[in-house]
Amino acid sequence: MKNIIKFLFIVLSSQILFLNGCAQHKFQNDKLTSCSDPINTYIAGVSANGKEIRYTKLGSGKNIILFLASIHGSERAGTPLLNHFQDYLINNCSLLAGKTVIIIPIVNPDGFEKKSRYNSNKVDLNRNFPAYNRVNDKHSGSFALSEPESYILYKIINTYKPSRVIAFHEALACIDYDGPAEELAQRLAAKCKLPVRKLGAKPGSLGSYVGLELNIPIITVELTKEDSKKNEHELWNDYKNMLIEAIN
Ligand SMILES: [Zn+2]
Repeated sequence: MKNIIKFLFIVLSSQILFLNGCAQHKFQNDKLTSCSDPINTYIAGVSANGKEIRYTKLGSGKNIILFLASIHGSERAGTPLLNHFQDYLINNCSLLAGKTVIIIPIVNPDGFEKKSRYNSNKVDLNRNFPAYNRVNDKHSGSFALSEPESYILYKIINTYKPSRVIAFHEALACIDYDGPAEELAQRLAAKCKLPVRKLGAKPGSLGSYVGLELNIPIITVELTKEDSKKNEHELWNDYKNMLIEAIN
């Protein structure tokens, strides 16, 4: 009973924040002067500890591609990389023709701040999704989507229904995939130094949910240990071509 009440609370509070976020364009960016579409950053909701989870939407095409980073707060290199990618797309908006690119730079702001894999409830958000292989335990959460962060991501995915999802992790140094994404994984690997390696679907992971339950191609980019020490420009140098390929 307690779990059901907690779940309903999370659903209702996330819903309100999500809709508010959509209704008010919080951070209109005037930089996109050469393109017809404005870019907008939304607040999708808040973390277990009350921190905002933001996402940016670029373009308005039918092909929707979702990028996300720092679902594990100790694996942070994807965040500056996606911030740089966002700036690049703003300045090269012809790349957005026919596409909508959604970027969530930090899925787990509480973990990001503390450099912790988990959220502030000590749950691994990447084990908290409603996949067939999920387990209920302390680190995976007592039920699927028990955490506000994973519920927010679930809501974004089910609202926008992306044609593919690219998630950044570290430091297994490979391109992993779930669902119908092998060809995409090979194309991305050809544009960077990471090899394709199938790591296997982890219980209740985003990969299991998106790739195997929803049958949407999902790529898990496992950056290298060295990448975690690189600055934004070094990361961009190494992964620019791969990121551009990801929207092709
Ligand atoms: Zn990870």
